[in-house]
Amino acid sequence: MHLKTLTMKGFKSFASATTLRLEPGITCVVGPNGSGKSNVVDAISWVLGEQGAKALRGGKMEDVIFAGTSGRAPLGRAEVTLTIDNSDGALPIDYSEVSVTRRMFRDGAGEYEINGSRARLLDVQELLSDSGIGREMHVIVGQGQLDGVLQSKPEDRRAYIEEAAGVLKHRKRKEKALRKLDAMQANLTRLTDLTAELR
Ligand code: ATP
Repeated sequence: MHLKTLTMKGFKSFASATTLRLEPGITCVVGPNGSGKSNVVDAISWVLGEQGAKALRGGKMEDVIFAGTSGRAPLGRAEVTLTIDNSDGALPIDYSEVSVTRRMFRDGAGEYEINGSRARLLDVQELLSDSGIGREMHVIVGQGQLDGVLQSKPEDRRAYIEEAAGVLKHRKRKEKALRKLDAMQANLTRLTDLTAELR
């Protein structure tokens, strides 16, 4: 599985439809300061369902929509499509190529599509939850964040690694199962008391 293409239209500085083709392996985006390199990374976070404006370096969510320049009027909507190569079947969907689209309008309304069909954010999250590229995974490391990771306490660093490795989901399931066991144990104790009283 690898990211194949990223198309941005009306997203931040990318007013016209712009498609980046990504090959397996390492991709470097180079360009002068302020040319939109970080906006490319923001586009990947956003299409995967990022809900926080701050994480996208904006004040409010609508800030992702092209705000206009001296030579070009603002646009009314932002749209990003990420195409993922799924020929190894890593994503639980019967397609060798999966495209996820997110659209947002100035009135705040938004929508998602998976392979051209309307979907909910939950569908996108579920589709990607085991792939390591979901929204809450720390696989997108922004400028300055690396220092934060390196300087964090060992237990916090462990949490980052667990999230990226997909261990967190299993830890949460384990905690839930333990809570159920506790409740069951309390019921058993109560039952034993009642049985003793009835004897
Ligand atoms: P650096 O190398 O300095 O980190 P960069 O290449 O990562 O820069 P970005 O931060 O991705 O650059 O892009 C910043 C540019 O994007 C700025 O010129 C800013 O005006 C523009 N920009 C951000 N949001 C919008 C928007 N909604 N509409 C139009 N332009 C935008």
